Amino acid sequence: MTELETIANEIRSCTDCPLSLQRTQAVPGEGPLNASLMLVGEGPGFHEDQQGRPFVGASGKYLETLLKSIGMSRSQVFITNVVKCRPPSNRDPLPEEIHACGSYLERQMVALKPKVILTLGRFSMARYFPGQMISRIHGKPQNVKGQMVVPLYHPAAALHQGSLRSQIEEDFKRIPSILNNTLDQPENLPKEQKPHQPRLFG
Ligand code: URA
Repeated sequence: MTELETIANEIRSCTDCPLSLQRTQAVPGEGPLNASLMLVGEGPGFHEDQQGRPFVGASGKYLETLLKSIGMSRSQVFITNVVKCRPPSNRDPLPEEIHACGSYLERQMVALKPKVILTLGRFSMARYFPGQMISRIHGKPQNVKGQMVVPLYHPAAALHQGSLRSQIEEDFKRIPSILNNTLDQPENLPKEQKPHQPRLFG
């Protein structure tokens, strides 16, 4: 079993916070092991909770359109959320719920080692850019402790607000060049391509 599958199984049986009491099923996330893009949304909605898969409702459809606009499909990217269980009535996730789920997301990132992380909406943005405003930083790639992160509007917000819609579509168009200009994480390179690691002694 891969580390990502191990994490997914732990998430499916997790009871670390009260969201686990009301879920139909947890939504660990999905995508190929070699995905260079990781997309992090907010939390499962009704359809995601029913199906156990992320972004399968209206915002998921729009996300697929956005990916298609840059020549990609959802089968090429890893998609997950800040919280893995549906908040009741789709309310915002609470800080303690985000905290309880935090180590799963962290472990998924470590296991996948994506070239670039796209945060979708303010809750996943806050993980990398606490206190920042999405209206100021959306679409701008930033290196956060060695990880390239691009904060984006949430597709659900963009879907319903014309101005955000053109903004997220513009921001998406920059992703291919951001990917091209970002080095693979050293662990993902074949051995002969690994950069020379300076040795401290001798
Ligand atoms: N919105 C999210 O943030 N995540 C999903 O999985 C679906 C909708």
